[in-house]
Amino acid sequence: MEININKERLWDHIHSLGKIGRNTEGGLTRLSFTEEEKAAKEMVSQWMEEADMRVYTDEIGNLIGRYEGKNVDAPVVLVGSHIDTVINGGKFDGAAGILSAIEAIHTMNEKAITPYYPIEVIAFTDEEGARFSNGMLGSKAIAGTLTKEDLYQMKDSNQVSAAEAMRQFGYDPEKLDTVKRSPENLKNYLELHIEQGKVLEDNDLSVGIVTGIAGPVWFNVRITGESGHAGATPMGMRKDPMVGASIIISKIEEIASKEKQAVATTGKIESHPGGINIIPDSIEFTVDIRDISEETLIRLEKEVRELVEQVTEKRGLGGEVNVLHRVSPSVASPDVVKQLEESCMKAGLPTFHLPSGAGHDAMIMSELTDMGMIFVRSKDGISHNPNEWTDKMDLANGTEVLFHSLNELASE
Ligand SMILES: [Zn+2]
Repeated sequence: MEININKERLWDHIHSLGKIGRNTEGGLTRLSFTEEEKAAKEMVSQWMEEADMRVYTDEIGNLIGRYEGKNVDAPVVLVGSHIDTVINGGKFDGAAGILSAIEAIHTMNEKAITPYYPIEVIAFTDEEGARFSNGMLGSKAIAGTLTKEDLYQMKDSNQVSAAEAMRQFGYDPEKLDTVKRSPENLKNYLELHIEQGKVLEDNDLSVGIVTGIAGPVWFNVRITGESGHAGATPMGMRKDPMVGASIIISKIEEIASKEKQAVATTGKIESHPGGINIIPDSIEFTVDIRDISEETLIRLEKEVRELVEQVTEKRGLGGEVNVLHRVSPSVASPDVVKQLEESCMKAGLPTFHLPSGAGHDAMIMSELTDMGMIFVRSKDGISHNPNEWTDKMDLANGTEVLFHSLNELASE
C-alpha cells in the first residue's frame, strides 16, 4: 500500500536528532535546561518551520509548533511527546513522537491540506525526570498541577533547583501560571511513542492502539530491627530487618503475579549501616506498582501495607510504608480510539489494542482532554538504553496512522 508520509525524511530526522547529546558509545543524554536540550530544540524548531508551523516556546520551555487551522480561535488538536532523554538513553523514546508529528504535518502541508482546527506539535519539557527526579514537568505545567514551589524545591545532583535552571535558559519560574491551558482550549491529545515492551513484537505487528496508561504508585518501605555482630549473635536472638525485607519483597512479587496486568518492582534497596559482618539495624527499599485499573491499584497498595505489618509483627521488627508518588491510571478516549482504528484500516494495518505499562505525558494530558496513543514496535522491548531501536517501516506505519488521525480529528 502506498503511504502518504515521507519515511526517508522522517528517518533522517531521527538520526540527525540522535546525534545531539550522544557519547562515544552511542548513548544519548539530553537533560532538561542544558545545552544539549537547547541544541535539540533548535534543530526540531527548524523542521517545524519547514513544515510551515509557527514556532514558539512557553514559560516552562515546552517547544510548540502551530499549524494554523481555518478557524484560528477553535480548540487545538495537540500532538506531543518529548525530546529530553534519560542518562545514556536511546534515539527513539520521545523523539519518535515529536518527529512523527512533524512529518505528519509536513505531509499535510505538501498536500495543501488546511485543517479546520489548529494543530499544535508540543515537545514537553523534562518528561523523563532524569535531572530533577520529578518528570513530566512540561505537561504538568500545562495541566496546572505543577506549582512554583515545586520548581524551587526540586534540585538536581548539583543542588541546582529547576527554577534556577529555567532562569539560566531564559524562562521565568514566576510566570509558570501562563503555561496552563484550559480544557476548552483543547480538542484532543494524541501521542505516538515506542512501546518499550515486547507485546507488538510478539504479535508480529508494527503498530498498536493504546487502551490506557497504567498508573504507578511508588512506596518507600523502611524495616527496622536490631544491629548486632554477625559472628556473636545466635540465629534465634536476631531481629534482622534484611530477612524481613527479603520476605516482603518476594511476597510482593506473588501479590502482583496474581493480577491480570499488574506489575511490581523493587528497584532500590539500602542497608544501614551496611557492613559485611554486621546485622543491619534498618533496611529501606522502594516498591513500584502499576496497573491500568484504579481499583486494583488501591487494593494492591492495601495488600502491601498488610504484608509489611504481618511480616514485621511476626519477626519483632518495625515497619513503615510511605507513598512517594502516585499517579492515577488513565483511559484512552473511546472516540479517539475509534479514530485510530479507522486510521489503521486506512493505512492497511490491523487494529490491535494494548495497555501502556510506562507513564507518558499523555497520562497528564488526559486530565484535560480526550487522549489517544499510538505505539510502534520496539526491538526486543529495549528502551532507556543506547540499543533502543524501532525499524524504519514500523515508524513509518505509525506515522501514517498519525497522519490520518490528525487529518480527521482536525477536520470540521
Ligand atoms: Zn518517552
